[in-house]
Parts: sequence; C-alpha cells; structure tokens
Amino acid sequence: MTPKSAAAASKPATRPRATVHGYPRQGSGRELKKAVEGYWRGRVTADALRETAAGLRRDNWQQLRNAGVREVPTGDFSLYDHVLDTTVMVGAVPERHRAAVEADALDGYFAMARGTQDVAPLEMTKWFDTNYHYLVSELGPDTVFAANSAKQTGELSEAVAQGHDARPVLVGPVTYLLLAKPAPGVAPDFEPLTLLDRLLPVYAEVLADLRAAGAGWVQLDEPALAADRTPAELNAAARAYRELGGLTDRPELLVASYFDRLGDALPVLAKAPVEGLAMDFTGPAVANLEDLARAGGLPGKRLVAGVVDGRNVWINDLKKSLSTLASLLGFADRVDVAPSCSLLHVPLDAALERDVDPQVARWLAFARQKAEEVVALATGLGEGTDVIAGLLHANSSALAARSSAALTRDPAVRARTEAVTDADGRRTTPYQERAAAQRARLKLPLLPTTTIGSFPQTGELRAARADLRAGRLDAEGYDKRIAAEIRDVLAFQEEAGLDVLVHGEPERNDMVQYFAERLDGYIATQHGWVQSYGTRYVRPPILAGDVSRPGPMTVEWTRYAQSQTGRPVKGMLTGPVTMLAWSFVRDDQPQAETARQVALALRDEVADLESAGTAVIQVDEPALRETLPLRTESRPEYLAWATESFRLATGAVRADTQIHTHMCYAEFGDIVSAIVDLDADVISLEAARSHMQVADELATAGYPNEVGPGVYDIHSPRVPDVDEVASLLRKGLAAIPAERLWVNPDCGLKTRGWPEVREALEHMVEAARTVRAEA
Ligand code: GLN
Ligand code: ZN
Repeated sequence: MTPKSAAAASKPATRPRATVHGYPRQGSGRELKKAVEGYWRGRVTADALRETAAGLRRDNWQQLRNAGVREVPTGDFSLYDHVLDTTVMVGAVPERHRAAVEADALDGYFAMARGTQDVAPLEMTKWFDTNYHYLVSELGPDTVFAANSAKQTGELSEAVAQGHDARPVLVGPVTYLLLAKPAPGVAPDFEPLTLLDRLLPVYAEVLADLRAAGAGWVQLDEPALAADRTPAELNAAARAYRELGGLTDRPELLVASYFDRLGDALPVLAKAPVEGLAMDFTGPAVANLEDLARAGGLPGKRLVAGVVDGRNVWINDLKKSLSTLASLLGFADRVDVAPSCSLLHVPLDAALERDVDPQVARWLAFARQKAEEVVALATGLGEGTDVIAGLLHANSSALAARSSAALTRDPAVRARTEAVTDADGRRTTPYQERAAAQRARLKLPLLPTTTIGSFPQTGELRAARADLRAGRLDAEGYDKRIAAEIRDVLAFQEEAGLDVLVHGEPERNDMVQYFAERLDGYIATQHGWVQSYGTRYVRPPILAGDVSRPGPMTVEWTRYAQSQTGRPVKGMLTGPVTMLAWSFVRDDQPQAETARQVALALRDEVADLESAGTAVIQVDEPALRETLPLRTESRPEYLAWATESFRLATGAVRADTQIHTHMCYAEFGDIVSAIVDLDADVISLEAARSHMQVADELATAGYPNEVGPGVYDIHSPRVPDVDEVASLLRKGLAAIPAERLWVNPDCGLKTRGWPEVREALEHMVEAARTVRAEA
C-alpha cells in the first residue's frame, strides 16, 4: 500500500481514541502498599485487601475517564506483579508452591513472590531496561499449562459494570516464554519458547473467556519483540499470532510493543491476522516511523500510536506529536493515541507536588497528565488543532520557558562541557606504572581485603534520620550520631583486619538521592513514587537542569573517617551513569551531554577528596549494564558516552591515587570491552552466586587491571565459612594472578544485620590470610 497523500490523510475516517496501556497501581497515598503489607502482617483481612484493590482500580478508571480516555485498560492492575499474574493465569505455578496455592490462592500467590520459611520465591529481575522488577517464571519440558482467567475476567467485569469501555491487557505468550527461565532441576539450556504450542491453547481459552465477559478488544503485550530476536524466535511469534488470529471465538487482538523499534518483528506482526498493533514512537523507537513506511504500513489494521513517552516525567511536545500522528494516519485504517508504554513507570499525579518550583512544575507530566495529553492529541488529530488551540499554546509556552530557563541553561556548565577534550578522560600514566606507585603508597598485602562501601543501615540510623526530618533532632545531634557510627564501623574493620577501610555510608539514605540532594540541577518530589517491585516503591530524583556542584559532597565525612585510622579509607561516590539511570532524566538534550555534566561535578569531588589525602576512591556504576539499550545497534553509542563519563569523573587523579569501581551483577559478557575501557585500577563485581565465573570471563577477555570478584554473597543472610570463602578465592586465583586479585563481598552491606556481617567479614579476612600463606 502507498500511504495516502498528506491532504487526504489530514482528517481520519474513524475518530481517534485516546487510550493507555496501564496505570500506576499504588494509589495517591500508596494505599496498595499499606494494604498488602498489612495483610502480610495479619492486620488486614483478605476481603479488606480485595476491597482496597477494587477501590484503587475504580479510582484509576474514573481518573482516566475524567481525563477523557474512552477506552481504559483492565488486568494491568496487580497485587504484586503482572508477570506473576500471568504465571497464575496460565497455571504455571512451580512445583514447590503448588501446595500453598492450592491451600489458599492469595497466600500461595504471595509465597511465590516472597518465599516462605521453607520455600524459595521466584527469582526477580528487571523488566527490560526499566527500574521495574518482575518475577521470573520457571518452566521445563514437563510444564503443564491450564487456563485460569478469573483475575482477567473479574477485572473486566468490574470495569464494564462501572460503565467503561474496557480493553484487557495481557502479557503476550511469546514475551511470557522469552522472559521465563528453566525450572530448577531442568537442563539449563532448556528453551521455554519450545513450550509455545502447549501455551497457545491456554491463551485461546482466556481470550474466549474474555470475549464472553464482554471484551471487544484484548491487548497482548509483546515488548520482547522490541529487542534483538533470532529468526527462530520471530518464527515463533509468527506462528503464535497466526494461530491466535485464526481463532473464531475471540475478541479483536491488539499486539503491543514498546521500549524500542519492532525491527524485524514488524513485518511479522504486520502480516499476522490480528486487528491492531500498538507501537512506540518515542526515544529509540522513533525508528518505527520509517520502518512502517518501508513496510507499507498496516493496511486494514488499527494502529495505537505511542507518542507520549511513558517512561519520563516531562510534558509532551504536542505539536511534534501531532505531526507524527498526521504522518501515521496514512499507514493504518484507524489511528489511536496512547503513551508509549504502561504508565506504571511514572508517578501518579504531578498536581500533588506542592513543593516543586511552580516554574518547573509546568514542565512535569506524570501519569495523570500524560492521560490528559493523549486525550488532547486524539482530539487535535480527530477534530483539528483549532479545537485544542488553548492547550497547544500553553504547551509551547511551557516548552519555550523550559528551554530558556536558567535551570536548564547554565552558561558556566555549558562552557565547561564544551571545552572537554578526549585527553581529559584519560589517566596520564598507564596502569602498570600506576599500580607500582599505588603499591608504594598503600603498602597493601597480597590479596588485599576491603568492602564495597555501606555497612548495616540500622534501625537507629533510620530513626535518627526521621528525627532530623521531623525536627526532633538538630543537625549537630544528627552529625554526632553519624560520627559515632563511623567510629564504630572503622573500629570493627580494624579489629577484623581489613586492609582498605570504608566509612560505612551511614549518612546516606540512598546512593543516588544523597548526591542528587547536593547537586544543582536535580529536584526532589514529595509524592513521586514508582513501583520498583512488589510493595517496594522508590521516589527517583528528577534531573531537570544543568548539573553543577555547589560544594564538596563527601569530603568532610571521608576526612573525618581517615582521621580516625592509620589504614587507608576509601572515598565513595556514585558514578554518572548510575546518577542518570536511577533518576528521571531531562529529555531536552542527549543523555551523553547530561552524563558529561554529572561527570564534571564528580570530577571536582574526586579532586577534592584527593587533596584531602584520600588515596583510594571508588566510583560505583551498578547501572552501567542495566541501562544497556535493548537493541545491539544502539549499544556502541551508549557505551561510548557511559565509559567516557566515568573516565571524565576519574581521569584527573595522580598516578598513586587508586580508582575503584563496583558493579552488582555477574552477567556482563556484553560489556567486557566497556569495563576495560573504564580503566579503573580495581573493579569489584558480584561473583559469589556464580562461583567466580566472572573471574574466568574477565581473564579470558584479557582484563588488564585489578579485580575483586565477590567472595561473599550479601544477598542472603547466610554466613559463609572460612573454607568456602577460601575455596572461592582459590578459584579466583586460578584465573587472576595474586598481584591483581582483591578480596571483598559481592555488594554493599546496608541491607544486612550486624551479627552476620561481623562473622562473615571475619571469615573473609581469615580466608584471605589462609590463601595468602599458600601463595
Ligand atoms: N557503595 C555502595 C554500597 O556499598 C554500592 C551499592 C551498590 O552497588 N548498589 O552500598
Ligand atoms: Zn553492588
């Protein structure tokens, strides 16, 4: 098909609708968290929990309806996680949870999510490149699926009874299988996707049930198709939608993708006998626009166009979106308007923010405002821009104010980033020479021991922070407590015999928030909660403007800590990539530019720490791997700015100042060359759970600098004994020579309790001594 001419396409045949793929679940006062946690503690009954949940759904639908959204999603709500809900829907409850689920569906559900005394929970992992975590289903050749549509049909019926035109949203079968992993005891190379033929009849049954319950349309989310896929996986997708599309007793099907372009999956879905596609046209997924043109559009289909970014907190450029929408009109039978993905990833309502500067508040759009934006766009598209002239005017003036505001245009910051040269990001001496200088200065033993930074965040520390906020404790009193904690942490480390000490980070609420509060350009919210997993919600800071450092952020406490001990104390900073990844980042300039600003602010902090006598400085980058773009084609560019910003933060130090970095995961195959590129003197990584495989991988990749593969798994309260740690260390030594091997835990200790930390670190030091003696 050739797209219709712009003139012919300017008025759509069918009136565009505004819709959303999903909405925040928690409620304006995080009522869901309170109800679920109350239920776990036995303070809230199951009925009361269900009632709260139903009330939140009712409010959400009403809020959408009031905004003018005429087709609301159902089934996107969850008491814990929508992927876990899908596991229940297809009957894929792991063997070990069967009894609990049969005894009580609700308790069994939470047992899968959180585990019980005797049974481990499902594993949790990140939902694509977002900060939401889902529960990974466990499948094997013996998995038997069985349809259980109750949650889906129930929520649809609620919405219908409340007078809404509703569209159930399900995780699609291909994505469900691609996100699953082999069950324990199943061959690790088992591919869940081989279960597709068994799973499709279950989806067929659910679709029939939903139709019977009144669904005109059902949305099947297939974000996994927006990542690189093999021909076999694309074939599976083609088969899945041929089969589901071929069913007779079914609602109309809308297959949704988001987070990146559909790429090779686009022709597959375009050919499939489904009635509609929802596609993302924001961020890297704008490429979908060209791809659609090249593919000849979606003749005969409905296109739900995701033109409002569902992952950031900024107002949309309505004019630009209208022009995107106008060009899409020629490509499909009917074009509707939506955010790019579920609004689960943004806070609920920007209007709740009373403390944000009103100037900046005009630039913000949370879920509720985004719903209003898609309504305005659908109206403008259907009835002409005159109808929304007032909104368009307000929108352009807010955008103009934003782009010329002092907050977003700091001449000093701009001049400085422009002047950056490649040499600024390179240490002037090669690693070999640095290592010699550092050895001479630090005089560490072979296999030096250290920790990752934080020590247990005790109840007393949290209480002191709460007291400070509430005015029950003054700044001086608070500082006294922090100082006392630092002294205790140092005394313990000296006693235990650690070689490079840390101050324990007692003054930090959170490794990103702490710095965001001390940098210009960041703003904080009061109610900007987003779900991280289950009942855990976080309030990411908003990186709204040009970033600069009004003054030192960590020097005082680091200097204090160093004054208490003769051993080296590591300075501890959060790296630029992580400072971006765990915030909402401005969308009015490339991330590379923003990262460079943060890097320069950190560079000054690093310099100040060095001048204060800090010989070892760690810059954590746990987010470097997790924000890796979904598609390989976008990765080189990302890794280039990510590594550049780290080097810019750390590159100016003297040869005898030792730079450490830390990352919290074992799967970094995709970024080994980037890790080499960071040129940190020492990197510590998670490795205990993967039995030091990391050390082998780094050795194979020819990693030239020093490595501390974690020998103590801090994610579990279990205390490893000396032999266990020693044998992990010997494994590490088989891959990395003793001169370049460090001994440390997997990650920070803030979530652990003191008794176990004490014992585990003593064992770690003892194991290092044992293995040292053998070397
Ligand atoms: N330095 C931080 C800590 O120890 C690192 C945390 C992290 O890697 N996520 O807590
Ligand atoms: Zn970590």
